[in-house]
Amino acid sequence: MVKYIFVTGGVSSSLGKGIFGASLAKLLQGRGYSVTIQKFDPYINVDPGTLNPYEHGECYVTEDGAETDLDLGHYERFLNVPTSQMNNVTTGRIYQTVINQEREGKYLGKTVQVIPHITDEIKRRMQLVAQTGKFHIVITEIGGTVGDIESLPFVEAVRQLVRELGPYNSLVCHLTLIPFLASAKELKTKPTQHSVNQMMGYGLKPDLIICRTEHELGEDIRNKLSLFCNVDRDCVIQAIDKSSIYAVPLELQNENLDRTVLHKLSLPNMGTSDMTAWTEFLDKLAAPKYTVNIGLVGKYVELQDAYKSIHESFIHAGVSNLCKVNLISIHSADLTEGNVAETLGQLDGVLVAPGFGDRGIEGKITAIKYIRENNIPFFGICLGMQMAVIEYARNVLGLKDAHSTEMNKKTAHPVIDMMEEQKKIKKMGGTMRLGSYACLLNKPSKAYTAYGTVDITERHRHRFEYNNKFQEQFEAAGLVSTGINPENGLVEIVEIPTHKWFVGVQFHPELKSTVLNPHPLFVAFIKACLEKESK
Ligand code: GLN
Repeated sequence: MVKYIFVTGGVSSSLGKGIFGASLAKLLQGRGYSVTIQKFDPYINVDPGTLNPYEHGECYVTEDGAETDLDLGHYERFLNVPTSQMNNVTTGRIYQTVINQEREGKYLGKTVQVIPHITDEIKRRMQLVAQTGKFHIVITEIGGTVGDIESLPFVEAVRQLVRELGPYNSLVCHLTLIPFLASAKELKTKPTQHSVNQMMGYGLKPDLIICRTEHELGEDIRNKLSLFCNVDRDCVIQAIDKSSIYAVPLELQNENLDRTVLHKLSLPNMGTSDMTAWTEFLDKLAAPKYTVNIGLVGKYVELQDAYKSIHESFIHAGVSNLCKVNLISIHSADLTEGNVAETLGQLDGVLVAPGFGDRGIEGKITAIKYIRENNIPFFGICLGMQMAVIEYARNVLGLKDAHSTEMNKKTAHPVIDMMEEQKKIKKMGGTMRLGSYACLLNKPSKAYTAYGTVDITERHRHRFEYNNKFQEQFEAAGLVSTGINPENGLVEIVEIPTHKWFVGVQFHPELKSTVLNPHPLFVAFIKACLEKESK
């Protein structure tokens, strides 16, 4: 029988339900259980693919091509197990299914209502991933905060499901904030009490209270929370702020979280917890031997969440190089011929980020010209790779108006053009080239050196591609295609072999980097940035 853990949030948003869920899953995995995490988001978009990163942070893409919430990235980075279409569900998707069924006549004669039809569909989806037979435990995170109007059907569905699953088969973990009032020098439990009261009003009783706090919780606070929130004393779990999200699992283990959860679910402890590899990672993270300064050129740089997976990939690959990576955010729209040397000149390497639309792209092209001419390690991802191709066309091939048809439909030299299969697509949602595709690497190449194999698969999210009509011209001039999709010949990687490290990739390597498997291209890029002798 699969066991279910639900994670809800109270008092405030952004408390880190995703990191908590991922950390708990990691600890249970360390005890020998196979665990997956899914997220139910209360907004009406069918998926976050149509949302601006300023609204919602990065859109994370799974192997099977789902456009999902960035928390799924945390789940994969912590667990080292891929998620899928099933692991992220929104209100929009739930309603879409129910309304389609209504039109098909599934409910003929009946009034279709939130309870039971919407809640039934939520419960069905909550149990879907368990049917794969791959997991002992399914953790379900409910987006938003208990009490929000839009999350009510999810809370109600959890209430029903907890009852249906019966004793010892499910747990509700409620994550709240224990604020510190500086003037009174006191931690306050009242907001948590109110939040739990509200939950009880919906008929849902939390089993564990997870307390986000800046200061240690004393015995008195723990006792008070246990009493007023009606949970066992060992079910009040402190989640104190840490400098790294990767330190959270062990911090929660100190609170006995994994043992308490297993006990409550009536699951055996399975001996000792194996967190060896994780601890080794944390030790290296805490004591880097080297430092590199890498520029991240993008148009959403003021919002860390917009490039979450890139930030995390640098942490993983940094650790594997025993190196601390200082990421310096550079707004592409601010870069000009006049300030590019001053902005990029001192950096050990530059990554040009993915993106859509034309804001800031001339700045990206200016950056790439400077990096190419000054032999500074360059890593271009998706739009970053496309800009590298445009820069080469303009400044090396001499095709002055070379462009992507995404930005200039009328260019005489469309070196980046819309993919053939995309041209007939009218609807915007979920229609990009998404998910995992194969790529065959050339030997020798920087990419091959990094991966150590010629057959790779990587995840995608784009509508435009390198235009193969210009391939001969590019190759002759020294921009080499070193990775090709074996089925359709699409150029997935470009490199300049004479450059120290100049690699542009059409795919998103950042989506596959995990704590235990840092991505080979990020590892190789940092290595190149560390090799200062040829600078
Ligand atoms: N806008 C470009 C395209 O659609 C690049 C997309 C991206 O960087 N993810 O092809």
